[in-house]
Amino acid sequence: MTDLSMFYSEPVFRPPSEGNSLLLTVSIGCSFRCTFCYPYRHKKFSIRNIGDIKRDIDISKKLYGDSIRKIFLLDGNAFISKPDKLVEISNYCYQQHKNLQRVSAYAHANDIIGKSDEDLMRIAKSGLTMVYLGIETGDNDLLKTINKKTTAENLIKAAQKLHKSGIILSGTIILGLAGNNPELSKKHAISTAKLINEMNPIKSQIWYISALSLMLPPGTEIKKDVKEGIFTPLNQKDTLKELNNILENISDDLHGCVFRSNHASNYLALKGILAKDKDDLIQKVKYGLSHPESLRPEYYRGL
Ligand code: SF4
Repeated sequence: MTDLSMFYSEPVFRPPSEGNSLLLTVSIGCSFRCTFCYPYRHKKFSIRNIGDIKRDIDISKKLYGDSIRKIFLLDGNAFISKPDKLVEISNYCYQQHKNLQRVSAYAHANDIIGKSDEDLMRIAKSGLTMVYLGIETGDNDLLKTINKKTTAENLIKAAQKLHKSGIILSGTIILGLAGNNPELSKKHAISTAKLINEMNPIKSQIWYISALSLMLPPGTEIKKDVKEGIFTPLNQKDTLKELNNILENISDDLHGCVFRSNHASNYLALKGILAKDKDDLIQKVKYGLSHPESLRPEYYRGL
């Protein structure tokens, strides 16, 4: 009897918006080690060979017929794969799944800036049209502290390269990442707003920025820092103030940026287009600050 199970290396994580997507394992784990990130800590990083990936695509066709609309490439930074390989995977996904509309993946900034504009355009043309980029902060000191292995300048470069190629950018920032230190929190907020401003596309196109709030899962270095008294988490009120500070420093010239804070880790769920809805979003944050009973309680926050 033929084995019709696709390969997965547990635990498996995907962005909330990929909830209905077919998950396809292209790489295992993540080649980076950010201090706050836990899903891939116990996985040895590797990239699967094309034959195994194509076998999984064949199996998914047998399992789901023509019902697949979106495919998300696992794991933490599947976009590290060579351009030719990503194009081959994406082409094969569309070949097998007639109703496929999008292929997407997580990426680290270095996975993007390491590829030429021509290669990124080829990848976009193959149908891999969305990349989820962990921005976290625009503060270079904080990027170093969290072991992000990139800089604000490279994050901006990565975003602009994606815009130019036609691959849609979906970036995430993390509220509370600088901890309970007013000066550092302000620096994180202002640098992050500045970075978002500099990610503004030249031409009119849609892009996404989502805010998460820092969680402290067991086994992470940041959790260890909390236990050792090196890091104090930001409280609910100051997290909202940080969000307010980011929004207030967003340039009025920003366009096409869908801003969301509807992730389960957040105290306040927001959605709007920046900079068009900036004032409205700020008013909602201010309301949350003056009506804490309207916010998501600490015990309801989750990943
Ligand atoms: S690059 Fe992303 S997935 Fe990899 S360790 Fe950092 S936060 Fe986690």
